[in-house]
Amino acid sequence: MSDQQKIDTKLIHAGEPKVRYGDAVSMPIFQSSTFEYSGQKDYHDIKYIRLNNTPNHIVLHKKLAALENGEDALVTSSGMAAISTALLSFLSSGDHFLAHESLYGGTHDLINKDFPEIGIECDFIDAADSSGWSEKLRSETKLIYVETITNPLLNVLDLKAVVNFAKENNLLSFIDNTFASPLNYRPLEHGFDLSLHSATKYLNGHTDIVAGAVIGSEELVTKVRHKLNHFGGALDPNACFLMHRGMKTLSIRMERQNSNSLAVAKFLETHEKVCKVNHPGLESSTSHTRAQELLDGYGGMVSFEINGNIDDADKFISNLTLFINAPSLGGVESLVTRPAQSSHSGMSIEERSAAGIKDELIRLSIGIEAAEDLIVDLEQALEII
Ligand code: PLP
Repeated sequence: MSDQQKIDTKLIHAGEPKVRYGDAVSMPIFQSSTFEYSGQKDYHDIKYIRLNNTPNHIVLHKKLAALENGEDALVTSSGMAAISTALLSFLSSGDHFLAHESLYGGTHDLINKDFPEIGIECDFIDAADSSGWSEKLRSETKLIYVETITNPLLNVLDLKAVVNFAKENNLLSFIDNTFASPLNYRPLEHGFDLSLHSATKYLNGHTDIVAGAVIGSEELVTKVRHKLNHFGGALDPNACFLMHRGMKTLSIRMERQNSNSLAVAKFLETHEKVCKVNHPGLESSTSHTRAQELLDGYGGMVSFEINGNIDDADKFISNLTLFINAPSLGGVESLVTRPAQSSHSGMSIEERSAAGIKDELIRLSIGIEAAEDLIVDLEQALEII
């Protein structure tokens, strides 16, 4: 597969078997836990689902690597399996790393609650402002960890500075690229060492599986694969099949989600009952210039505050008819949630308020419906409060 091909073409054709299995146009599901021995010498090469090397895994690995121009990739049983396994492949007891202060709640908890138990320490930094980073460096600092677009405030971090700082200080740089998807940002092209995804979201796009992905150089991904083989977070072949099928439409879904979310954000920004809208495509966003420079699209997420309290926010949510009140994001259907009640409920009120996340903040994951219909729904729900 040529690196020159457009991502839309790679989504369909990259990684597909050269000789089709049984002439099947769609990749069949290989529902076999083990495979006949054919001379493998290395434990990690034995063909077995947990060793992440069935035909369903291999096709996904090749496709994911092609999408973000990596040498290699790995699918995992969830986004958290990708994140925890990747971090634990390069950090061990006594090590220290830096991470952006406002991360996905599960990652934040992993770093804050689980890692100290095994002797891994982290200092949180504001990855949008490089001024204080050097002071946090220690001789044990190994890595820097960020997200492309933060959740739920939708800021685009200073990704160029993160890569430069990592290179200057001999650190590995990892990025959770879930919110951007490979369509809007390809971290390895910008110098990041590993790109991580919750494939549960945009990559799969149909709200029917939980999966993760790791993309990077052959050397780093092999290290993560061996760790995953021992930790056991392999993706089941049925889920591999669904992820593979979902990924083929990523570009047309994401393009629609990019444009729908901007239309929704612009509508909300003009509404009298809305006091603040977060979306990197809005000129009012403090991340707008950076987003224009770094991203090929602004993503499908919008968050906002209404003129009112938590009860008003909950009333607004229950007035919506098209948006489903559910956590998660990135599917074809539009979802609404209050992060303080869902993705960020693991943080204390103090931690949330330090991160600028008000309890009444509402987050929308915009789907591929007609933008006009979504706006009509939002308008009627705002009118009732
Ligand atoms: N990263 C981000 C940005 C997320 O939003 C999520 C889940 O919501 C995760 C990682 C974790 O992914 P998963 O639920 O697939 O384990």
